[in-house]
Amino acid sequence: MSKPTGFLEYNRELPRSRDPKERIGDFKEFYEKMPEEKYRQQAQRCMDCGVPFCHHGCPLGNNIPEFNDAVGSGNWIYAYQILDATNNFPEFTGRICPAPCEGSCVLGINKPPVAIELIEKTITEKAFEAGLIKAKPPLFRTGKKVAVVGSGPAGLAAAAQLNTAGHWVTVFERDTHPGGLLRYGVPDFKLEKWVVERRVQLLEQEGISFRCGVEVGKDITTEELRSQFDALILCTGALTPRDFPAPGRELKGVHFAMDYLTQQNKALGGEAPAEEPIHAKDKHVLVIGGGDTGSDCIGTANRQGAASVTQITWGEKPPSERGAHNPWPEWPMVLQTSSSHEEGCDRHWSVLIKAFVGDESGLLRALRVVDIHWHEGRRGYDEVPGSERELPCDLALLAMGFLHTEHEGPVGHLGLALDHRGNVKTTKYHSSVEGVFAAGDARRGASLVVWAISEGRECARTADTWLMGSSRLPAKEESLTNVASWV
Ligand SMILES: Cc1cc2nc3c(=O)[nH]c(=O)nc-3n(C[C@H](O)[C@H](O)[C@H](O)COP(=O)(O)OP(=O)(O)OC[C@H]3O[C@@H](n4cnc5c(N)ncnc54)[C@H](O)[C@@H]3O)c2cc1C
Repeated sequence: MSKPTGFLEYNRELPRSRDPKERIGDFKEFYEKMPEEKYRQQAQRCMDCGVPFCHHGCPLGNNIPEFNDAVGSGNWIYAYQILDATNNFPEFTGRICPAPCEGSCVLGINKPPVAIELIEKTITEKAFEAGLIKAKPPLFRTGKKVAVVGSGPAGLAAAAQLNTAGHWVTVFERDTHPGGLLRYGVPDFKLEKWVVERRVQLLEQEGISFRCGVEVGKDITTEELRSQFDALILCTGALTPRDFPAPGRELKGVHFAMDYLTQQNKALGGEAPAEEPIHAKDKHVLVIGGGDTGSDCIGTANRQGAASVTQITWGEKPPSERGAHNPWPEWPMVLQTSSSHEEGCDRHWSVLIKAFVGDESGLLRALRVVDIHWHEGRRGYDEVPGSERELPCDLALLAMGFLHTEHEGPVGHLGLALDHRGNVKTTKYHSSVEGVFAAGDARRGASLVVWAISEGRECARTADTWLMGSSRLPAKEESLTNVASWV
């Protein structure tokens, strides 16, 4: 490694972020830059542990010790080549990945882990600045045509890989712009949309066609697609939200988190306002659900000028340190405090909603809730006597996750087999219908961007093999040996 004693000499250090009070005045990303030497020191904390669990923890199989070594030595070009061999869009994962790699970093056993995500973002942005990331159209075309439905990270990764293999790829997207949840779900303060646009432009220059505003199953039938294309890749996400059918659910002021977040992202993107605007200005906002989507609602509501923001979840408060049942290198199931929480939010755990309470005009005015006490091992709960109360609330956002992919549209029209959770059932990404493949949230259920990219890549390799008899696209396990041949 570039500095064998780096992990003993340097502490984990992240760039400073703008003050929470200041940054909620806009929707821009808020991490500042550090001097180059600091990034190199962070990479030098990687200790060449011998068995790099980080590499296994990363769904893409990123060659993390190798790019850390290159950064530590100041060889940013080689670092980018290593990263590019496994990850089509490190500018996305470098910004918004929860970094399972860091959860399994060996240094993390008794010290803060290597700042892998930060290093990944820095390598990528330096490569863009240096003009290293350019369109690389394929040298030959196979003459085969592939339709990708859905332009989230899974669809974009599948399209990029299949285009590299020489197929003509068309991406169909029902929204106005490509990007899926990267554009319409994740708020700008985590991922500004010029980052998505920059990548989409490169993909277009490489020869991929985007047909936005086209809903497959409505504006074009699956039969038409199948007759016009040699293969069909479904990357339609898992956007069926989990509802909470408590009394009063129909009141005005109760919304799904995604409807709310999408409106704000569209407003920032200059798209036409919704007929029924959902806005948090001067409202008492209650976010129901403790995950990433909930955090994104908190950050958005504070930026919109909410009077108060409260998050409730029925789960127990997680511990601050790993429990005995959750050892390293598993993902640490500990209390997470997101940047949005830092900006202001009351958090309550073990709270159950009994009803949404409205006024005589049908407007939400409160949530009736009760505290609960979980039994050992989460085997049921009891309500805490005397804890039932009303929490004032004009805007309730349901951020309780997603059930499965949408069954109407292409999945239903093609009659695809579903798994026990209601997502597309596949064998190595091949669905139950010949020539139709699936990847990303549509196949594995609501997950992460890094998994969507990984699935898009793996699915592309399966589809390429089906089309051509074999594939030169890199498999995950061959990634390092392919650095030289694919850059
Ligand atoms: C609010 C929110 C915040 C998140 N934050 C993070 C985060 O910080 N980090 C992280 O790693 N993950 C995050 N995730 C999860 C991550 O965004 C998803 O796992 C990922 O985007 C899934 O990618 P995908 O390509 O499978 O699907 P999606 O991104 O959902 O894209 C599916 C696309 O298919 C299109 N589509 C569907 N049906 C049709 C049709 N019939 N015709 C044409 N187009 C169609 C949709 O319009 C959509 O654009 C977040 C999710 C949400 C909801």
